[in-house]
Amino acid sequence: MTHLQRSDIVTLLKSVRLPDGESLSQAAVLSDIRTEGGHVSVIIDADLDARFQSNPGALATVRADAQAILEKDQRIEKCTVVLTGGPMAAAGSSPLAAPEPEEETVIKHIVAVGSGKGGVGKSTVAANLAVALSRLGKNVGLMDADVYGPSVQLLLGLSESPRADGKKIEPLEAFGIKAMTMGLLVDQSTPMIWRGPMVGSAILQLLNDVNWGDLDVLVVDMPPGTGDAQLTLAQRTPLAGAVIVSTPQDLALIDARKAITMFEKVKVPVLGLVENMSVFICPNCGHESHIFAHGGGEEAAKEIGIPFLGHLPLDMDIRVSSDAGSPVAANSESPQAGDFLNLAGRVLDQLEASDPLPPPRLVMA
Ligand code: ADP
Repeated sequence: MTHLQRSDIVTLLKSVRLPDGESLSQAAVLSDIRTEGGHVSVIIDADLDARFQSNPGALATVRADAQAILEKDQRIEKCTVVLTGGPMAAAGSSPLAAPEPEEETVIKHIVAVGSGKGGVGKSTVAANLAVALSRLGKNVGLMDADVYGPSVQLLLGLSESPRADGKKIEPLEAFGIKAMTMGLLVDQSTPMIWRGPMVGSAILQLLNDVNWGDLDVLVVDMPPGTGDAQLTLAQRTPLAGAVIVSTPQDLALIDARKAITMFEKVKVPVLGLVENMSVFICPNCGHESHIFAHGGGEEAAKEIGIPFLGHLPLDMDIRVSSDAGSPVAANSESPQAGDFLNLAGRVLDQLEASDPLPPPRLVMA
């Protein structure tokens, strides 16, 4: 296969026109092009041109045109065209919303799974929670918003490239749920350097440009931490509530408290706290060891006044099945699946309790 050069992409993008007729290849809004083998990423930054800051919809069409042209080229295996900048500043508007919505689908509840820091098992909990909700009969999607370290493709054993019809990306399906992650859209061997606004745009793209269809619950695996990107995401996504994952130690709980404060600040109801890696039960002798202490999460939840959603054990099967791309919650014979089904039941109870209003309608453009 011919090695793609940046200049090849510039040539392809010549035929993409801005609303005033200027070629995208010439326009200042084209802020970055990267090629790696057959993988291409293009960034269109509305902030670079004053014409587009007041007209966010205009660039959404340009983005879709650019994506369609690149996808048609046989040399390109995978391409991502991301829109960033100006539209993010337009309160309440999605930068990727096309000017005229074509189809309306309903996502009843968008639930964020967050943590104050990485490594506490947030993605593991998000993936197993999504599978468990589906086993309880719900229509479920899992959106991996952890763009810094997307792992949903590994947790669900996904390797197929998502298909796109030029406008919408089709989510992949596994273990009864729909799933989408940046891990399948960008080349993992050349990680993109995500600036704050890019994170927000990429995540809104996952929300708005993926053909989720009607869902009862969309579980969102949030980026870890409580920085600007997380705050923006919590503000810009119509979240029904947040589930906070923490280990039982004081240190992790300090971070978990920050995550709770962040969601409260943007008026997203905190559905509760899950204590992960709570107790280690020796697979040989059954002895219980509290490696990361025990019960800290439950105490903290009580003290803060949020629901406690349960303990999840530090368990070899959870780790092994996650690494194997086969979430433990899908295994009806595993006792750990029961823990996740209980968690899913409590999350549904909290959603009902915190949402007496008719389900929010999300217009997918
Ligand atoms: P985060 O999303 O918070 O960074 P991950 O979900 O990626 O964390 O988990 C980090 C590591 O810990 C992974 O290897 C995962 O398999 C493992 N892990 C998470 N929860 C558990 C658990 N309850 N028992 C055993 N291993 C776990």
